[in-house]
Amino acid sequence: MSDISKLISGFRIFKATTFSKQKDIIHHLLEQGQKPSTLVISCADIRLSPAEIFAANPGDLYVINNIGGFIPKYGTSGIAGILSALEYAVTDLEVQNIIVLGHAKCDGIKMMMSEKFVSERGMSEAMKTWLSVASEARNMVKKQLADKTPDEQQSACEHESIIITLRNLLTYPYINKRIDQNKLGIFGWHFDVENGEIMAFNPDTRFFEPII
Ligand SMILES: [Zn+2]
Repeated sequence: MSDISKLISGFRIFKATTFSKQKDIIHHLLEQGQKPSTLVISCADIRLSPAEIFAANPGDLYVINNIGGFIPKYGTSGIAGILSALEYAVTDLEVQNIIVLGHAKCDGIKMMMSEKFVSERGMSEAMKTWLSVASEARNMVKKQLADKTPDEQQSACEHESIIITLRNLLTYPYINKRIDQNKLGIFGWHFDVENGEIMAFNPDTRFFEPII
């Protein structure tokens, strides 16, 4: 069976089961408008969708996916698609939480940690520009954890990249405004796709701690 046939037969199953069960919720959302409580900024290769990970109902989550699950600093040009989604989620949909969801075995972080990232012709300009959003994480790991194994460095870089995106989110005036009004919380979580665990960044201790 080709991949497309697999998708179509999967859709047939979805329509007869999940969609059929959730039809009322979906129709209610279409009539009343969506009001997602949470914006999830996640990586495109996370393997499982945030809706699956959090057993969310339709419309509960607003999701931005990109390589690494990064958000650049306020004022960065050339990424209007991502920035408009962020702004819409916070100012129009008024989400109450933003979760920056990084993950283990991340291909984006792997690319950033590779020598290709720093070689002249190792990757496209677009890829290099995007990964540079979190290159500070790479620099920190290469410098401070030089004696660790590649797996340990990768994991540390995944965690550090989440912290960079959390910090970048705080450069957006409309995000700060809603945090000051106690209407928005931002969280940095790392999903270990191998073991099914989530660790949350604790800004007080600066460590990642299990959420359950
Ligand atoms: Zn990834």
